[in-house]
Amino acid sequence: MNAVVAIDGPAGSGKSSVAHALADALGYSLLDTGAMYRALTVEALARGLDPSDEGALGQLARSLDLVLAPRVLVNGHDVDDLLRSDAVNAAVSQVASHREVRTAMVDRQRQWAARQPVGTVAEGRDTTTVVFPEATLKVYLTASLEERQRRRGDDESAESVARRDEVDATREVAPLRAATGACVVDTTDVAVADVVKEIMTCLATRTSS
Ligand code: C5P
Repeated sequence: MNAVVAIDGPAGSGKSSVAHALADALGYSLLDTGAMYRALTVEALARGLDPSDEGALGQLARSLDLVLAPRVLVNGHDVDDLLRSDAVNAAVSQVASHREVRTAMVDRQRQWAARQPVGTVAEGRDTTTVVFPEATLKVYLTASLEERQRRRGDDESAESVARRDEVDATREVAPLRAATGACVVDTTDVAVADVVKEIMTCLATRTSS
């Protein structure tokens, strides 16, 4: 397997900023798995699909033509600016809770990582537990609820953050939790560069043992 650093954690824990900075520092490609579930949700809403309709969503997840970089395209359409809309925030956790949807997305994520020339920093809930359980390094970021709500502040209400936490942590398939052996970093009041340093230390320890 190519080198993979997988980063999990709840909304606002710093996954996205830390994953970007870490991918830059290591020269790895960045895989934003949340963007994939969001892109699927954009398309599902555009088609008027019910977020509880597992069969239709699973079929869509398997058949979607999805491009992740430099912008997110669904079946050739640029949906990047729609990924963080209120409608998507409200529906994405339910869309992502279905087993059929997750199976299709996990397959895509593994295939994507296998194609990267150097390595992958994979960011998202379940990347350490389900998608890449054999990752070179697994990282679990945490932060206080207050700090996480503050970080999401411009994009999302405090209630929405707490609700997504609840749905993601209690769902039956791949609930959000720290993987065994993960490097756990509390990012409350810690600068991104310092979080990256801590992860680099974990990486050096893991790869030398
Ligand atoms: O990371 P982001 O906030 O963009 O993720 C949006 C939603 O997608 C999460 O609240 C979660 O419901 C879902 N998701 C997931 N598994 C992942 C990444 C995201 O279920 N690996």
